[in-house]
Amino acid sequence: MMIRSLFATLAAATVAIAAVNEPCYGSGGRAGVCMTTSKCSADGGTTINGACPSDPDNVKCCTKASCNSGGNCRWKSDCAGTAASGFCPGPSQFKCCSSSATGFGGYSAPRIPSVGSCKKVAVDGAKMIVAAWPGRVREIGCVRDCSCSSGNSDHCCGKATDMMCSDGGGVPTVSGKQIAEWVMNNRGALNLKYVIWGQRIWDARSDSVKGWDKWKKMEDRGDVTANHWDHVHVSYK
Ligand SMILES: [Zn+2]
Repeated sequence: MMIRSLFATLAAATVAIAAVNEPCYGSGGRAGVCMTTSKCSADGGTTINGACPSDPDNVKCCTKASCNSGGNCRWKSDCAGTAASGFCPGPSQFKCCSSSATGFGGYSAPRIPSVGSCKKVAVDGAKMIVAAWPGRVREIGCVRDCSCSSGNSDHCCGKATDMMCSDGGGVPTVSGKQIAEWVMNNRGALNLKYVIWGQRIWDARSDSVKGWDKWKKMEDRGDVTANHWDHVHVSYK
């Protein structure tokens, strides 16, 4: 009985390493979804290697360049045209978009947190990011109710901002990569400690400047929000 449950736990843990049904960047940066190669090809998609968080042999980044005469498969939040169901691989939010234009953002200016329990460095950073990316940040989260002590999230200390950049919490997008790389490139002005996007982290205290796809991988935390596929997390010094 002990052995059986141990194996069940191991099997579950193995599956959880790859963030199946979450976003990835396919060839040429095309929006993709991590899924089994067999399901991908059954739905008319093609896969590339090395673009899903941990890439077990049968889970890869699946893209579909054309669908439903003239459309392309992408995350609904990123579709500037109409998004149709039933033509694309993966979960229901990965749809056939009628437009080749990206639909990143288009949001009204988000409310900037006031300085107080959200510290000035975080408020200033959030302002800079919003100014650099007009329309791309829908909402900003700063303080979380937890004790400000080492090992806890910088949100507990009011020194981190979540830059929500899809149509809703838990709604996936691929739009945050540009914002996250911009944050890295402006680390000095932002007083950046680290930035997280799409299950990868870049630490200003230790990492050299490089593209997001070379950033350090993070574990699968279980969903789109926890894996940072709907917001860019920015921690400040
Ligand atoms: Zn955060």
